[in-house]
Amino acid sequence: MDKQGHRVWLFPQQPKGKLYNARTLVSIGYVALFFILPFLKYDGHPLFLINIIERRFILFGQIFWPQDFFIFALGMVFFIVFIALFTVVFGRVFCGWVCPQTIFQEMLFRRLDYWFEGDATQQRILNKSPWNTNKILRRGGKIVVEWLISFVIANGFLCYIIGVDELGKMIREPFFQHMGEFLTLAMFTTVFFFVHSWMREQVCTLICPFGRMQGALLDKDSIVVAYDYKRGESRGKFHKNETRTIGDCIDCGNCVRVCPTGIDIRNGTQLECVNCTACMDACNHMMEAVGLPRGLIRYDSENSIANKTKHTYTWRMKAYTAVMCILLGLEVFLLSTRTDVGITVLRTPGQLYQEQPNHKISNLYNYKLLNKTFHDKEVVLKPENFNGTIQLVGEEKIKIPKDGSVSGAMFIYLDSTDVTKTKTKLMIGMYENGRKIKTFSTNFLGPYIGS
Ligand code: SF4
Ligand code: SF4
Repeated sequence: MDKQGHRVWLFPQQPKGKLYNARTLVSIGYVALFFILPFLKYDGHPLFLINIIERRFILFGQIFWPQDFFIFALGMVFFIVFIALFTVVFGRVFCGWVCPQTIFQEMLFRRLDYWFEGDATQQRILNKSPWNTNKILRRGGKIVVEWLISFVIANGFLCYIIGVDELGKMIREPFFQHMGEFLTLAMFTTVFFFVHSWMREQVCTLICPFGRMQGALLDKDSIVVAYDYKRGESRGKFHKNETRTIGDCIDCGNCVRVCPTGIDIRNGTQLECVNCTACMDACNHMMEAVGLPRGLIRYDSENSIANKTKHTYTWRMKAYTAVMCILLGLEVFLLSTRTDVGITVLRTPGQLYQEQPNHKISNLYNYKLLNKTFHDKEVVLKPENFNGTIQLVGEEKIKIPKDGSVSGAMFIYLDSTDVTKTKTKLMIGMYENGRKIKTFSTNFLGPYIGS
């Protein structure tokens, strides 16, 4: 921003070079994956669905209910710690190469600037020019295409929430039957357009919390896009056929001109740097042009540059790795022990125990079972650690519809001679086709037996 605090609109030059080409390839794969994933199905159902509205999640073909939220929560914690560890070691490589904001902004929307308005200099001239036919056509055309791209991407996002089949229905069926979905689509399109057409690099420099965390995460051993000031300074213009006695930076300013966040990497690592590598390409190109070694701006750590030492695996990195391994182990354990059927059994509210004929005591329970698969299930409940009977009210077996739930009531009967405490912990097994799939516990209330 300028000294008055007004935004300075940036017109970065289009980078050229090996890294930019590599990032272009990564982006093509990334965008292709983004649009292909919602179409992939397993067993007739989406492989990925993140339906926040109906709280229905399918990951890799497995249904996750809100009851599995803790697995998600742990997964998120793991993801954040992973990003933190990755940042400690590799800086903001994530931002430059795989962050959706950078990919869509720099590889899609920024290219529209070049296609419609020309290179950075032409864009600047167009920006200052009065609103004539040329400017209206170029700006107008760009805005229309930006809207269209935003609309297509918003459809992609919607596919992850409602699924491609539902999106197909939206297209085929009358508009008024899908008002909610169309409103969501309009909102996604508008937000996306606003973010990439107007907010642009400000998302990374002002809004993104990950960018704000850099100061706490990075240390002098983190590998970042860095300017080798030992080699580059003191900087000075290049003169043909001279014997260069100063640093290798020829002060061409190309690294600044290509920077999408408008910073000068020669001033050191800054929060605004998204590690996009554009300045590396620009500087390498200049170094080759004047016959100096590439890599004046490169991936390196502050300690490596300052002391010419090798990159070390510090105690901090080791600590992060240890935490990450523990979380990963826990996540794997939770996923591997997660069963296809979820169950909640609670004693019926307001009911104590009941004294029955033949010296029996019973307790009444309410149960709710969830089927987390795409197949109907039939299960039976059997006593595990007690001699007694479980009797369902009105049913013999519990039938749970696919991707659904069933509720009901059941009695547990125990001989009064086996009820020696006011509260007895009972273990119950759940069986499907004779195979035990889960064990759970509940409490059985009995009369007070004085000491
Ligand atoms: S300083 Fe270099 S790596 Fe950082 S944002 Fe600017 S161009 Fe990208
Ligand atoms: S591109 Fe390289 S040589 Fe040119 S100003 Fe930047 S650091 Fe110096």
